[in-house]
Amino acid sequence: MAVHYADPLASKISLKGVCNCCGMCCSGVAPDGVQWHCEHLVISPTVPLGFPLSTKCKVYESRRNGMPIWLLRDDNTRKRGQCFHNTWQETEIILPHIGKACSLTMHLDDSSYKGG
Ligand code: SF4
Ligand code: SF4
Repeated sequence: MAVHYADPLASKISLKGVCNCCGMCCSGVAPDGVQWHCEHLVISPTVPLGFPLSTKCKVYESRRNGMPIWLLRDDNTRKRGQCFHNTWQETEIILPHIGKACSLTMHLDDSSYKGG
């Protein structure tokens, strides 16, 4: 997960289920409209990005929160980013894809959510 937008609600949400490897949380469209993906994301030559089993993280076992990554852009430039493995920032990045490409489901942790 490579981009971070502030939303404290994400810290109160648990994600459950089995990842279908659609790759949407390790790729995206930059504010300037250019598509990017993490340097470690291997994209299938036959399954389009966003479909089940279209991607694989080649550093899956060793990925860690804060790990520096390059965001490879379709205009052949690259930018620095970081992996947000196992953090609320990761949840926040995944949330917009739930109910679409993502196979996970979200669950509000009512014990810690105070609202507001
Ligand atoms: S390193 Fe992190 S951001 Fe990159 S593909 Fe793996 S899980 Fe996704
Ligand atoms: S968006 Fe969801 S299903 Fe797709 S790779 Fe990320 S966690 Fe897995």
